[in-house]
Amino acid sequence: MKIFVLNAGSSSIKYKLFHIDQKVQILAWGAVEKIAEEESFISFNESKEKVKCATHKEGLQLIIQQLQKAGILKDFSSLNAIAHRVVHGGSLFCEPTLIDETVKKQIQQMIPLAPLHNPANLEGITAMQYLAPNIMQIAFFDTAFHQSMPASHFRYALPEYLYDELKIRRYGFHGISHHYLTKKSAQFLKKPLQNCNLITLHLGNGASATAIKNGKSIETSMGFTPLEGLVMGSRSGDLDPGILLYLFEQYHYDGDKLDHLLNQQSGLKGLCGTNDMKEIIQKMKKGEENAKLAFDIFCQKVKHYIGAYIALLGNVDAIVFSGGIGSNSPEVREAICSNMSVLGIILDSEKNQQHFTLIGDKGSVKVLKIETDEEFEMADQSLQIIKKHPVTRKQ
Ligand code: ADP
Repeated sequence: MKIFVLNAGSSSIKYKLFHIDQKVQILAWGAVEKIAEEESFISFNESKEKVKCATHKEGLQLIIQQLQKAGILKDFSSLNAIAHRVVHGGSLFCEPTLIDETVKKQIQQMIPLAPLHNPANLEGITAMQYLAPNIMQIAFFDTAFHQSMPASHFRYALPEYLYDELKIRRYGFHGISHHYLTKKSAQFLKKPLQNCNLITLHLGNGASATAIKNGKSIETSMGFTPLEGLVMGSRSGDLDPGILLYLFEQYHYDGDKLDHLLNQQSGLKGLCGTNDMKEIIQKMKKGEENAKLAFDIFCQKVKHYIGAYIALLGNVDAIVFSGGIGSNSPEVREAICSNMSVLGIILDSEKNQQHFTLIGDKGSVKVLKIETDEEFEMADQSLQIIKKHPVTRKQ
C-alpha cells in the first residue's frame, strides 16, 4: 500500500510517502516552501533547490515530477490513499473522515475558527482531487482526538449563548500527536489502551499537554485556539484576559496588534528574544538572566499542568515527553520533573541523558520519552480505513 501524507500550510506543502506492507517504509519526504513568493524552493529527502511555484497545485506537480524522476512513484494515481492534515474539525469531526464534497463544505464552514489554516488545508485537498481524482482522500483533524472531552472540560465559564450561537468552547489541538503518543505509550507499557491513564506533553514550538483517561483525551491545555495553555515559542499561553482589556482601553490595541503580540511576539521569544529552546539553554548556561527566566517560566507552566492533570486523573501510569523540546532536551525534562516525587514522579537523571524511552520508573508515575510521528499516525490510520473500504479507487 502506498500512502501519501500531506500537510498543506498557507505557503508550504510538506509530505511523506509511505509504503506499508508487513513493515512500514518511508519512500520519500519533502516539501515545497514559500509558495507564491520569489524564493520558492523544493526539498526532497536531504536535497533542496529553488523553483518557480505560484500555487499549491503547481507545488504538487513539482513534487510528482521529482518523485517520477527519482523512480519512486509513477503518478499520483498509483497511490492507495492520500491523507490530509486539517487543523480544525470543530465539534463535528471526531475521527479521520473520507473526503467528499459535503466534508469539504464542512471544512470550509470551519474557516472562521481557523482562518489561517483551514483555507490552506482545503487548497491542498482541491489540488489533490484535481491531480488524483480517483484516489481515496482522508482528512485527519488536529481537533478530533479531543472531542472526547466532557462538557465540564470543554466549556468556558461564559454565557451560554456564546457556546450555542458562536461555538465558543475549548477544542484542543495537536490531537494527531497526542493520539500517537497515547498508543505508543500503551504499547510500551504493555497495557490495553483503554486502561491507560497518561499525561502526554507535546513540547515543540507549539506546545500542549493532554490528560488521557482510559485511552481518551479528557482535558487538554490548548482551547478555543492554539494560544491557550503552555508557554510556546512565540505564543503567550494562558493569560489574564484583563490584560487584553487593559491594552485595548488604555493603549488602543486593535485586533491585528493583539494577534501579532500574542501569536508572534510572546512566549519564549517575548521573554528573551528567541523562540529556540536550544539557544536559550546555551545562553542560560553562559549566565544570561533573561534566558534563565524564559526557561524557568516555560518549565514551571508544564509543572503546573502536570499537577493539575494528576489531580484530575487520580492515578497516572506515565507522563510522556515529546515534541522538539520534550524529546531532545534533558535540561527541560530535569527541570520539569524536579521536586515532583510527592506526586510520584521520579526522573532517572542518568537515563534522562541517554537514548532510553523509560527515563523514570522509581515513582508511581513512570516517565517516558517518545518522539512523536504525526505522519506515521496518519498513514497507519489510513491503512485501517483502506482495510474497511477495500475499493480505494472511486469508480
Ligand atoms: P514545531 O512545533 O515547529 O514542529 P519542534 O517540535 O520541531 O517544533 O520543536 C522545535 C523546538 O525544539 C525548538 O525550540 C528547538 O530549539 C527545540 N529543540 C530541538 N532540539 C533541541 C535540543 N537538543 N535541546 C533543546 N531544545 C531543542
